[in-house]
Amino acid sequence: MAASETPWANYIGGQWIKGSGQSIVVNAPATGQAFDEIAGASESDVGAAVEAARRAFNTRALYDMRPHDRMLLLFRIAAEIRKLSDEIVPVLVKENGKSVGFAKDEVECTAQYFEYYGGIADKVHGKSIPLGSGYLDYTQLVPFGVSAQIVPWNFPLEIAARAIAPALACGNAVVVKSPELSPLAMCFLATACARAGLPAGYFNLITGYGKDAGEALVSHPGVDQVVFTGSVETGRKILRNAAEKIIPAVVELGGKSAGIVYADADTTSVASSAAIGIFAHAGQVCSAGSRLIVHESIHDEVVEKIVTWVKGQTMGPGEEDHFFTPLISAAQRDKAERFAMIALQAGATAATGGRRPDGLPGFYMTPTVLTGVTPAMEINKHEVFGPVLSVLKFSDREEALSIANGTEYGLASGVYTKDLSLAHWTADRLEAGTVFVNQWFAGGNEVPFGGFKRSGFGREKGVEAMANYCQVRNVAVRI
Ligand code: NAD
Repeated sequence: MAASETPWANYIGGQWIKGSGQSIVVNAPATGQAFDEIAGASESDVGAAVEAARRAFNTRALYDMRPHDRMLLLFRIAAEIRKLSDEIVPVLVKENGKSVGFAKDEVECTAQYFEYYGGIADKVHGKSIPLGSGYLDYTQLVPFGVSAQIVPWNFPLEIAARAIAPALACGNAVVVKSPELSPLAMCFLATACARAGLPAGYFNLITGYGKDAGEALVSHPGVDQVVFTGSVETGRKILRNAAEKIIPAVVELGGKSAGIVYADADTTSVASSAAIGIFAHAGQVCSAGSRLIVHESIHDEVVEKIVTWVKGQTMGPGEEDHFFTPLISAAQRDKAERFAMIALQAGATAATGGRRPDGLPGFYMTPTVLTGVTPAMEINKHEVFGPVLSVLKFSDREEALSIANGTEYGLASGVYTKDLSLAHWTADRLEAGTVFVNQWFAGGNEVPFGGFKRSGFGREKGVEAMANYCQVRNVAVRI
């Protein structure tokens, strides 16, 4: 149990409920050892959460509230999250493996989502449509009802917040399932919502494994809309469930994102941007830049500078704020190492890394830069979700585009050049929902994010996300 008023439990209808499902043992990625436990939600706990959300929604408390008050309520949730930061950060570092710096950024980003969508909460409105004399016509943006949200483990708080905040801003009630590999820190969101005065039942948290609590949530008949962030494989199951019930679903899935480096790019800034793009949080970022497609004339220089950048960082537990931190689990680390091995066997070369480090407990993988990767190799096609960068060469821009677009994914992409017209030409042809120009991860909560192709559909973040959480009702009046 956590020391404060935040227990490791489900939060249903304003009450902490231990949950009668299978318990989850939580491991510390930095040591590989179990350090805590949380009770999972059973199917009946999930049912209770959906019913609590429905009861809250039916009171119309958020919908009928003055929009300005709804805005202030979301601002108060943001303030309560910040007040809890000193409690949240060590838990997030321990269960997730990320560095203290990244954990602080995540908590801050989480608070900012509530402020961003709080700022929109009083600007959700329809329009009046002229129909000629004798008629008045207007549209309303109305909430769906119960929003079911499934969160992955890599950024549990901020990914949860980017869907919870706009859902509440529109007046929905939320049931969110925390990820089994990093379930603890999310419990603090319930404390923040309660302290801010969110009416009971509008925020419900369930814990548990995807195959039981997750399935039970998305297939529950009382759910009106689903938001899923996670793998393509699970996304397919979510969509099948949504199709069965004919409800809308947003699916934010994986990526195999590529940055194209033209011959005129500043190789020093490319090296640090590309390294941060793949090695931040051990590569466990959906929009990680896992492929770098470099013009043949500067290929060796770019690779050398990336390797130098890597050697300038240290590896160790997130608590000590190292840049290279462990992966979430032994399975995830093994997967990254296996993909690197397969690439090496297929003819790639490790400019650095290639296998797990010696002498560290926990789930570490050495930051790996693979050169000589070709489009046909497995490593060029599949998401590793680990600290493995594939470097490919090109000689003309059409070839670079064809390599970049040659995967099933379309989440993020990048272009490095001083020539803005070339940057625009390339951005306009990259098959991805996000294009970073000259800095990987440029952007913020304010910009829309989501995938092309198998990376999913629907847009989170930015004003665009509001379309996920309200539906249009047209009212035509014969006067
Ligand atoms: P995952 O699909 O294994 O799990 C994601 C969540 O789904 C977890 O909470 C899990 O418990 C739940 N789940 C699993 N099976 C389920 C089922 N049948 N029904 C309902 N819920 C179920 O993914 P992961 O390993 O946690 O996350 C890594 C993946 O997420 C990567 O592919 C990554 O690219 C992707 N991701 C995408 C984004 C984005 O915004 N596009 C952001 C972060 C992560």
